[in-house]
Amino acid sequence: MELTAKHCTHCDQIHSHDKYHCPLCFSEELEERQLSGKGEVYSYTKIYAAPKQFADQAPFFVILVHLEEGLKVTARYSGEKVQIGEKVELESIVNRAYHFQPAMSKTAF
Ligand SMILES: [Zn+2]
Repeated sequence: MELTAKHCTHCDQIHSHDKYHCPLCFSEELEERQLSGKGEVYSYTKIYAAPKQFADQAPFFVILVHLEEGLKVTARYSGEKVQIGEKVELESIVNRAYHFQPAMSKTAF
């Protein structure tokens, strides 16, 4: 279980996985980099009417996580309730979907 992204060795920026060149400097020298899996909730929504394959799991949260490294990823959230700015960390990756949980140590800003 690991969260990875692409790191541009030319301009030192982190980009999401689907990039084949750096959108900032257009370098193709991207290397795989492991991320901490920690971040905070940037936005969220609660899904009541889920697609058929997830219907038995509804309602559930889908959150947008602002990772420490600066990227944002969409993920499922396993907590009971969620707030904007809440600290979260990667719990698992299931069928290429990220699942986040509340961070263990809730450090203040
Ligand atoms: Zn770059």
